[in-house]
Amino acid sequence: MEDTGGKVYRLGVMGGTFDPIHYGHLVAAETARIEFRLRQVLFVPTGNPPHKQEKKISPGELRFEMVRRAVADNPNFSLSRLEIERQGPSYTIDTLRILRKDHPESDLYFITGTDALREIFFWHEAAEILKLTNFVAVSRPGYEARDFLEQARKEHPEAQGRISLLEVPALAISSTDVRARVGRGQSIRYLLPEAVRRFIEEKALYRMT
Ligand code: ATP
Ligand code: MG
Repeated sequence: MEDTGGKVYRLGVMGGTFDPIHYGHLVAAETARIEFRLRQVLFVPTGNPPHKQEKKISPGELRFEMVRRAVADNPNFSLSRLEIERQGPSYTIDTLRILRKDHPESDLYFITGTDALREIFFWHEAAEILKLTNFVAVSRPGYEARDFLEQARKEHPEAQGRISLLEVPALAISSTDVRARVGRGQSIRYLLPEAVRRFIEEKALYRMT
């Protein structure tokens, strides 16, 4: 994959709602970090995501705290308040522009699952996004991406050399499923870090979903 400019370091960016964060996110970030020699992976919990506006999502501060607990023991993981502090809808393009300014020494590698990869071409200012960052699309059970990517590369020349597929250990875990389990009173142990599970219990999150 080509670099955005052949800079010294590589910064991974893992965007997500993280409602809640789970091992699918963490194994994706860790595998991408190693395979792409990323110095850091920065987790960026979304504020008020434009495509999820109609859905009820937990307050940013609670989602942020769960991510904080989940990444605390990994010196190569960090997290950002950029999006949760922004008023109104947060667009990835704005976040990437800020990150480019804040990290002039690093090329950016945006990590998404293969489900989210299908959406990036519809994101606000998609062509601009592809100029600012590389994409690492990590495999996610149920979302095959190879054919889609081949097609997308033909239709979107700006995607050439910008998107890589990465096989990661398959974890069929989703935040939606975690919330549903809590709602049904089922166990979520071993689907996410214990510190996050305890936080969900303490704050009585997802009981009514
Ligand atoms: P929800 O069910 O609420 O949509 P989610 O589990 O999909 O939650 P998100 O916060 O929407 O989590 O996802 C953030 C990013 O992590 C996305 O790019 C998504 O594709 C990726 N991702 C989430 N779960 C997995 C998984 N199990 N394996 C690989 N990638 C994942
Ligand atoms: Mg999702």
